[in-house]
Amino acid sequence: MYDIGIIGGGTAGMTAAIYGQRAGKRTVIIEGGNFGGQITSSPNVENYPGIASVSGSEFSMNLLDQAMKLGAETEVERVTGIRDEGAIKVIETTGKEYPCRSVIIATGVTHRHLGVPGEERLTGAGVSYCATCDGAFFRGKDVAVIGGGSTALQDAEFLSNYCRKVYLVHRRDEFRGEESIVKRLRQKENIEFVLSATVKEITGDSVVEGVVLNNKKTGEEFRLDVAGVFIAVGQIPQNEIFAEVVKLDGNGFILAAEDCITSHPGIFAAGDCRTKEVRQLTTAAADGAVAALAACKYVAAQE
Ligand code: NAP
Repeated sequence: MYDIGIIGGGTAGMTAAIYGQRAGKRTVIIEGGNFGGQITSSPNVENYPGIASVSGSEFSMNLLDQAMKLGAETEVERVTGIRDEGAIKVIETTGKEYPCRSVIIATGVTHRHLGVPGEERLTGAGVSYCATCDGAFFRGKDVAVIGGGSTALQDAEFLSNYCRKVYLVHRRDEFRGEESIVKRLRQKENIEFVLSATVKEITGDSVVEGVVLNNKKTGEEFRLDVAGVFIAVGQIPQNEIFAEVVKLDGNGFILAAEDCITSHPGIFAAGDCRTKEVRQLTTAAADGAVAALAACKYVAAQE
């Protein structure tokens, strides 16, 4: 029996485990893929207070190490749902069941797809959603990064260190991501901004050969010859499996305010998976702390 069952091993989930363990609670983090979450794809995190610069993977590995040294248990299992048995909430996975006194859902978000022809077919053959993972395969080649948020900006900067040319393709004239990075990108000779352009198709027989774009202002269609297309157009939640136990908003985020309390007593939501204005590493960590303390209070009240 766990005091706190945490679903998701990203920044929010691992921070929740740290707070849970330090409060003397038995805590398990259940992660379906790799521990670390989205931030592991960030080549360089420069906006976490107290850390001027760290790679996302180093940051998350330190976090996991900290949680495990405090005694948090970890499991790699695909969660399929939560069954409410009153005082006990059972986390169901494909392999096992985890009875818990409280549950924190910290499942984050997943990559949004463009939904254009060629994207799915060429994923892994030039189409990628992770520049830090796949960038090195494109050394000396020309690539396109799609998106205008912080992820796309960081990806373009990272890829410019390997690639001959990086086209940064964004559907508007203004970037959503951090201005300080935009300024740095403007200084790079091998980065070209392609603005007000949308992707129509990704082309290539067995590997990516190019991307067909549409200039939104002129209606003109044009093509960039690239070997890689890095898609960074934001994220979407994957909370359908929890829809029977907690309320979701119209976009699939778990309805929970800053207190991380969901519609279901004893089940909390932390990080990017919940309704919130600011989805940042700092707010994910803050949610982990808030949700864990709320879970501790809930467990104590049940005793
Ligand atoms: P994001 O901020 O939501 O940006 C997504 C971008 O993709 C936007 O520019 C959007 O365009 C564009 N887009 C969305 N759908 C599109 C479509 N169908 N076709 C073309 N373009 C499309 O996502 P993100 O960059 O992944 O960042 C997510 C969150 O993580 C943000 O809060 C960000 O600040 C944070 N983050 C933090 C760090 C860090 O180092 N701390 C690093 C990366 C990300 P519009 O602008 O026109 O909507």
